[in-house]
Amino acid sequence: MSFNIKQLSQDLWQIIEPWFSEHANLFLLRGTKKTLLIDTGLGVESLSDFLFERQLSPDVVVTTHCHFDHCGGLAQFSPETIYLTDRQAKNISDSTLWGLNYLNQEDVNISHRQALQNYSSKPPASWQQLGHNIDLGDYQLSVISAPGHTDDSIILHESSRGWVFTGDTFYEGKLYLDLPNTNTTNWIKSLEIISNLETTIIYPGHNNLVEKSKSIDLLEVACSQLKAD
Ligand SMILES: [Zn+2]
Repeated sequence: MSFNIKQLSQDLWQIIEPWFSEHANLFLLRGTKKTLLIDTGLGVESLSDFLFERQLSPDVVVTTHCHFDHCGGLAQFSPETIYLTDRQAKNISDSTLWGLNYLNQEDVNISHRQALQNYSSKPPASWQQLGHNIDLGDYQLSVISAPGHTDDSIILHESSRGWVFTGDTFYEGKLYLDLPNTNTTNWIKSLEIISNLETTIIYPGHNNLVEKSKSIDLLEVACSQLKAD
């Protein structure tokens, strides 16, 4: 199976690549005016076709940061739908920043190992400029710069519902500190930004969704990992 998709609520889906054990969480949010895709996976299989077949094609495609497991599939989507920040636009074509040293054969199901051997970074040919707000109609997302995990990381906040999409800036579990472009001092500041947002639930780039009741403790765990560095 190329992708697993799970409907989390009426307009929100979580998508993963089950054949990759370090899979990222990709999210699709359908508003009354537009549909947003947050992160694209590796780009080994066509997420674009998968969503089209389910009548869930996005109008806006963003990436939380330029690592292969989040931005790798961007090039599958039409350039009019891809939106990058200025910093992401600078980084996207530099594959040394994609974290490919973390793409290991043993993390990939045998069904996809051949595809992985042929894997190379495929940046999109062109894109649009991502501003400070994404208007989906009944959902409004603020785009917040959150450098640290990478210098191009963003988080998205739907303030009326208290939803925060954090990418790899925050998730439950071990944080990886030796990736290109990581800056722990900035990362701690970005965790503070998340701590101060109106939150009901956090949709992280990896692992479990984080309810508000657990978020304060887990944000502290993340922060202490960075301070120990
Ligand atoms: Zn990452």
